Amino acid sequence: MEFLKGEKYLCMLAPSFVSMYDYPSIVYRIRALGFQKVLEITFGAKMTNINYYAILKEKKDRTWIASPCPTVVNIIKGKYPHLIPNLVPIHSPMGCMGLIVKKHYPGYKTVFIGPCITKKMERDDIGIVDEVLTFKELNDLFLKHKIPEEIEDSKYQKTFDKLYNDYTKIYPLSGGLSSTLQYKKILNKRDILVTDGMENIINIFDNFKDGYYKKYRFLDMLSCKGGCVNGPCIDYSYPLKERIKRVEKYRTYASRYEKDLGRAGKKVHADGIDFSREFKKR
Ligand code: SF4
Repeated sequence: MEFLKGEKYLCMLAPSFVSMYDYPSIVYRIRALGFQKVLEITFGAKMTNINYYAILKEKKDRTWIASPCPTVVNIIKGKYPHLIPNLVPIHSPMGCMGLIVKKHYPGYKTVFIGPCITKKMERDDIGIVDEVLTFKELNDLFLKHKIPEEIEDSKYQKTFDKLYNDYTKIYPLSGGLSSTLQYKKILNKRDILVTDGMENIINIFDNFKDGYYKKYRFLDMLSCKGGCVNGPCIDYSYPLKERIKRVEKYRTYASRYEKDLGRAGKKVHADGIDFSREFKKR
């Protein structure tokens, strides 16, 4: 990726970053690359949840399949097109956050950075975000621009720019979506199946009958075993257990110390935005 003169750049970072980078030094480092704004997509995840809640509450005529994982979406489009109507027709946290920044930061080139190669296909599909980079590509940029691993320079803002959310930081873990959905008024725990890994997913899709998978109302699934913390473009130098721990620790830290820094995204910040997404056959 090249930073063009005269353009302003906004980074939207996936919270799985903490499974391989340290916080807050990663925020400094991304600013040092040339991004004027650095946001985390956690507020987008909150809006994904709010819109999922409305659909799960109102439409009970099928087993819904979570749609933030583009690999799951691609498998359905390619091999199980009869299940397209089961995909929750709401944008992923990346898509939701892309719509939010269009409203709050017009004129910026938006770049999503995360652990996932198939997010590039989602970008092509939805056309909301300008560019998608993987963590591997981010590392290449750090090398190219000679950005060190630690930056102490106080000229860079330490925290993310607003808007932000604390509890959705666990989205990159398997089950992160449903555990932050606050579903208790509309679903029982037994209505939800949390699963990950391609084998399990294929087995479930093979066993759908008439729009339902067993008695489940909602399938919270991610194609990488363990979730996005085990995505294809994560640096595996920490073992998976440690990556999961780092995400949980980061969520706890944020809810203790960063809850009220004036950056929390509220529903009102998303007023007027339509987060619905249409999934078309190939
Ligand atoms: S589970 Fe894997 S493929 Fe799916 S969004 Fe996460 S990193 Fe990408």
